[in-house]
Amino acid sequence: MESLSMNIQYIKGVGPKRASRLKRLNINTVEDLLYFVPRDYDDRSQFGDLGEAQINEKISLEVEVVGKANIIRPRNNLSILKIPVKNNMYNAYLTWFNQEYLKDKFSIGEKIIVNGKINKIGREIQIMNPVFEKIGTMDKVGRIIPMYPLTEGLTNNEVIKLIKYTISEYLQGVEEFLPLEIINKYSLMEIKEAIINIHFPKSKESLEKARRRLAFQELLTLQVGLFIIKNKSIGNNQGIKFKKTIEVDKFIESLPFKLTNAQIKVFKEIENDMESDFQMNRLVQGDVGSGKTIVAILAIFKCILSRYQAVMMAPTEILASQHYESFKSFFKDYNIEVELLVGNLSPKRKEEILLDLKQGKIDTLIGTHALIQENVEFNRLGLVITDEQHRFGVKQRAVLTKKGDNPDTIVMTATPIPRTLALILYGDLDISIIDELPPGRKEIETYAVGPEMIERTNNFIKKQVLNGRQAYIVCPLIEESETLDINAAEELYINFKENVFEEFKVGLLHGKMKSKEKDMIMEEFKNHKLDILVSTTVIEVGVNVPNSNIMVIYNAERFGLAQLHQLRGRVGRGEYQSYCILINQSKNPISRERMRILQSSNDGFKISEKDLELRGPGEFFGTRQHGLPELKVANLFRDMDILKIAQKEAINILNKDRELNEEKYRELKKKIEKLFLNSGENLTFN
Ligand code: ADP
Ligand code: MG
Repeated sequence: MESLSMNIQYIKGVGPKRASRLKRLNINTVEDLLYFVPRDYDDRSQFGDLGEAQINEKISLEVEVVGKANIIRPRNNLSILKIPVKNNMYNAYLTWFNQEYLKDKFSIGEKIIVNGKINKIGREIQIMNPVFEKIGTMDKVGRIIPMYPLTEGLTNNEVIKLIKYTISEYLQGVEEFLPLEIINKYSLMEIKEAIINIHFPKSKESLEKARRRLAFQELLTLQVGLFIIKNKSIGNNQGIKFKKTIEVDKFIESLPFKLTNAQIKVFKEIENDMESDFQMNRLVQGDVGSGKTIVAILAIFKCILSRYQAVMMAPTEILASQHYESFKSFFKDYNIEVELLVGNLSPKRKEEILLDLKQGKIDTLIGTHALIQENVEFNRLGLVITDEQHRFGVKQRAVLTKKGDNPDTIVMTATPIPRTLALILYGDLDISIIDELPPGRKEIETYAVGPEMIERTNNFIKKQVLNGRQAYIVCPLIEESETLDINAAEELYINFKENVFEEFKVGLLHGKMKSKEKDMIMEEFKNHKLDILVSTTVIEVGVNVPNSNIMVIYNAERFGLAQLHQLRGRVGRGEYQSYCILINQSKNPISRERMRILQSSNDGFKISEKDLELRGPGEFFGTRQHGLPELKVANLFRDMDILKIAQKEAINILNKDRELNEEKYRELKKKIEKLFLNSGENLTFN
């Protein structure tokens, strides 16, 4: 066992230099190497026939060298090497560009096997840049070749050799850790065989089986771990049974607008859950501006009618106070006590609120993280709502819920995540989707432009501001460091204020400001005391200033598409035609493609699916966005079916043995602990 955790440096033939290169690929131990999954495969297993091969087809062939090497130099920097060969009755040339040194490698009459793409020029057949080897070697040709992620100073062939050696020396240390019953039930490949076949598949079928096995174990460990973190009993919990009443319908009729069908549908789902005697655990997804807040308000209203308290947690003070204001106005004709709990209250005010809350004088409390502190006690907590859930850790939600006796819970998110991802992140939740925007919204016109358009963009802002509108300018993300981002923002701000928009009122907002300062600036922008707000991404969630109609985002290529879509959602909230200008400072084609997606779609779900497709699940899923371990094998597009069974088995296992104490789960438990070690989420079995 110890040898699996051995540092790669001590593997024969590795040494410190190569070890440091491998470390760049996150490979530190023998086990990491065994699980270093190829990014792709080059299938050279198909043997073909020159007589039938089509242009561009890539095949393996047995050939005999029938003539001398022939070199042509059509241009200064180009040489073409051709070796005449024969396969059965067909003649062809092995052809290489700029690889003259190969000319002495072959002797007439020698038989070799090659793999390459077929080209035909007139009647001449060429096999382009083939890989080749002696017959019988089966090293490079005639099989499926793994292609590894690489780094400077490390070639694919070196990795192949290293992994071959590691498998031969250390694979015996790998032990099966999935319970036998699960392996049998789903005919999964055994672990050692799966590791061999993920690197050196015997066939396409065995590659698929290996992949399936490894994806399953990855999703199972992840899922069991997540369920444990959420510390939620699996299955249905006894919960509060809220009253059925027509008061809610009257309240709906009195609203200043008609609910959309999607809002009605989602609230019905919530109402059913609330009236049942099970605890509700529901995720409400809805694009920016789809009207999630009112749905939350309806649920809170229903909760209060049954004489329970409700709480809503938002990620920023700006957002919490905005909710507070809107709750007060919606509830103004009712005898409902609404309060706001945020970090910067005076100690005296805070004490009052906490006391009133405990005595049940407050019906609904809105707040930030301040809500999860220990001294916040409710009298009869019935409903917990978390807004913009993706901003909170999995655990924070649970802390708030524990302040009541199995209260119903709703989490709301505007970050549209693909269904597979939602299933992983919120595997224990029912999902409702508000898939319709309130009527009359104008599409936000979006333009992705290069930096040469900055001046025109500035002129456009001036024109709109002169017409009475307001604008947001979002600064580039410089890097992971917030301080640097803020420096850049300040610089940009000063330049705008002094050189570009001298005649207008420009404000700056960034994350390191005190919340009082932030609120003040936001308030000024809301009241149109500022025309232009230069900001880091702190304005990302929820802020509502209907008069603003332009959003300009610098270095747009550095943001995630979902995040850009969120930012864009800050405009288009009023009656004015709104614009989003993405300044793309990258020439990379994938960046361009990503910008094009935003330009052509206003549908958050479509955008996030595309983003996932372009960036790949690894990056999308990685620690930065969701605080979860990275997926190496499982693919969120293809592996929906595997995810479902992994989820089912995770629940089965935990229902049988909550702490995984049984001998048969011992290795699985270790794996899970290891998986979550670096993810920042705190995993404890209890
Ligand atoms: P989000 O889903 O992004 O949180 P909000 O709940 O903030 O969206 O709603 C955005 C705006 O739309 C608010 O001003 C809200 O009052 C308004 N709104 C919500 N539902 C409707 C509706 N059915 N018809 C018209 N306006 C609505
Ligand atoms: Mg909202």
